[in-house]
Amino acid sequence: MKLKDLLLELFFPSFCINCQRLGPALCQNCYHGLKFYFLQNKLQEIAPNLKEIYFDDLQIMAKFSGSIAKLLKALKYHDSKNIAPMLARMLWRHLVIPQVDLITFIPLHPYKLRVRGYNQCQEIALELGKLSGIAVKNLLLKKKNTKAQAQIKDQDERLRRMDDLFQVRNKYKNLIKNKIIIIIDDVITTGATLNAASKTLKEAGVKQVFALIIASKME
Ligand SMILES: [Zn+2]
Repeated sequence: MKLKDLLLELFFPSFCINCQRLGPALCQNCYHGLKFYFLQNKLQEIAPNLKEIYFDDLQIMAKFSGSIAKLLKALKYHDSKNIAPMLARMLWRHLVIPQVDLITFIPLHPYKLRVRGYNQCQEIALELGKLSGIAVKNLLLKKKNTKAQAQIKDQDERLRRMDDLFQVRNKYKNLIKNKIIIIIDDVITTGATLNAASKTLKEAGVKQVFALIIASKME
C-alpha cells in the first residue's frame, strides 16, 4: 500500500456498503454473495424493447439489486468516485472484454456533469482502460437533459427525442471511422439510451459497438 493510501485509510476509514464492516467498499464476504449473470444472452432479452438494435453485443454483469445497487447509487449520488475502480475490476473479472480499438461511455449532460462533478460511467471506463490497456475517449456529447425527457408521457415523442440525444464530438469524427468500440453504461433499463448512443456512433462510421453494463433493471 502506498503511503498516501495508508494515510487516507487511517484518517478516512471506509466501510463495506452492505454490512458496514471496516475495510473496502465491498468486503470479501458480501462480494461472494453477489449474483452475476455469466454470459447470458442479454441481446435477445432487450430486443423486444427496441425497433432496431445498433449495438453488436451486450454484456451485463449483474442484476440491479443488493450490494451492486448500493455501490452504483453511492457512485452516482454520494460523491464516491473511489467505487469506480472496484466496479471496473468486477467487469474485468466477470465479463469477456472484447478486442477493440477504443473504450467510450454514455456521457452526462454538461449541466448534470457540473452538478455531480464527475461522470460515473467515465470513471468506470477510465479504470477499465487502465486494466485492459485500451485507450478511453470521451467520444459523445449529450445534447439534452434526460430528466425532462423522462417526463414526456408520449412514448413515440420520447423515442423521437432520443434520436438526436447524442452527437460525436467534432475532434473524434475522423478517429472513430471503421473502429471497434466498447461503450460503458452503469445501468440499463430499456436499452433505449444505449441504443441511441450506438446509433450515433454507427452513423458516424464506427464499425462495431460492444456494450458493457454493470447492472440491469430489466425484469
Ligand atoms: Zn460486507
